[in-house]
Amino acid sequence: MAGEPRADCLFCKIVAGEVPADVVRETGTTVAFRDINPQAPTHVLVIPKAHYPDAASLAAAEPTLAADVLREAGEVAAEDKVDDTGYRVVFNTGTGAGQTVFHAHAHVLGGRGLNWPPG
Ligand code: 5GP
Ligand code: ZN
Repeated sequence: MAGEPRADCLFCKIVAGEVPADVVRETGTTVAFRDINPQAPTHVLVIPKAHYPDAASLAAAEPTLAADVLREAGEVAAEDKVDDTGYRVVFNTGTGAGQTVFHAHAHVLGGRGLNWPPG
């Protein structure tokens, strides 16, 4: 069923506490944790606790939950004090764009110069 945990999903295992993570924030519907391979001084992943394969399917099925993820991205940036200098919120979607984990997640990147357009 849409949103149900998947046994083969790494981020569902993080939500369940079966895989450890450096959690920085948690709400009733979301978890935010530091990326294991950080690409910037602040590199946090914000995920919905419910399983959707990407941001578009999340937003289509549960727009309020998609908004929770976006709001938490802003809270993470404020807590890491990168909101003043600027930060980027990225949803890689599809293998061609570098998506490797098919559980929707926002990357929050900041604390260094961020080129535009991204590579
Ligand atoms: P994607 O490439 O799908 O946009 O992003 C997946 C992200 O998950 C990558 O930046 C990768 O470093 C991160 N990642 C992969 N496995 C783990 C893990 O076990 N723990 C944490 N904290 N991050 C992970
Ligand atoms: Zn999942």
